[in-house]
Amino acid sequence: MQIAYFNGKFLSKEDVKISPDDRGFLFADGVYEVVRWYEGFFFDMDSHLSRLKRSLRELRINWAEVDMFPALSHELIKQNNLENQPAMIYLQVSRGAAKRSHNFPSSEVPPTVYANAWGFVPDIQSKESGIKVMLKEDIRWNRCDIKSVALLANTLSFQEAYQVGLQECIFVRNGLITEGSHSNIFFVIDGMLCTHPESNHILSGVTRKNILRIADELGIKIREEAVQESRIRFIKEAFISNTSAEVTPVTVLGGNTIGDGVPGHVTKLIQEKFDSEVKNKHEN
Ligand code: PLP
Repeated sequence: MQIAYFNGKFLSKEDVKISPDDRGFLFADGVYEVVRWYEGFFFDMDSHLSRLKRSLRELRINWAEVDMFPALSHELIKQNNLENQPAMIYLQVSRGAAKRSHNFPSSEVPPTVYANAWGFVPDIQSKESGIKVMLKEDIRWNRCDIKSVALLANTLSFQEAYQVGLQECIFVRNGLITEGSHSNIFFVIDGMLCTHPESNHILSGVTRKNILRIADELGIKIREEAVQESRIRFIKEAFISNTSAEVTPVTVLGGNTIGDGVPGHVTKLIQEKFDSEVKNKHEN
């Protein structure tokens, strides 16, 4: 039996009942977070918590107990017996249930808070050999910085990639490469690590932030500047990042083979440091 968290209680996932009037259901009026459990600790929970607070603030959703996110995540790991395996926590907060209307309900309407946990098998093969990804026009809205549950443009785009056997869809907006449908993307050009700067056109990934720190510690030059699609031929290495894929090399981007078609040297250096930080945390 899977145990979920729902509006203050831990209960069987099957017993969760969400109103058809819930604004998450009617308007995708809500935010979410995904955090990874590494058999003993959550990866950078502080950054996930602050991003959750920011997303809630941007949508003006008031979840007064937001600071309990780490504790409730721990409790879900415990109650689902996931302590000794890789796992994920998904948390969603919507504006709550109220008669359908475009204006917000009164401040007395409590948000709907749902979270669950599941065991997770890391995709080691993709991390070692790399993935092939599609390039496509970014059809999303202008607030990609908010981790909103309104992901239709992401899912439609990802499905296109998936159907032709590709592992991610990377977006291009006004000729500039932004990010993936559920990942950030990095490039190595002229020996420099390049990635789209934080803006309303990308989600500020927790993995992205840690990769930039790691690259800096490794003495790799960083350029937080969007790469033009027309410069693909100058890209020597590419990788995507997110909570589940960590650092996953990209060997083919929009039909173009990147570098020698195998994971590059800088990518591997960053991957190794990322993995060793996780390993060291296990041993402490
Ligand atoms: N960009 C988008 C659109 C995402 O959905 C995600 C994660 O799912 C990311 C970037 C990476 O974020 P994180 O590293 O915090 O998982």
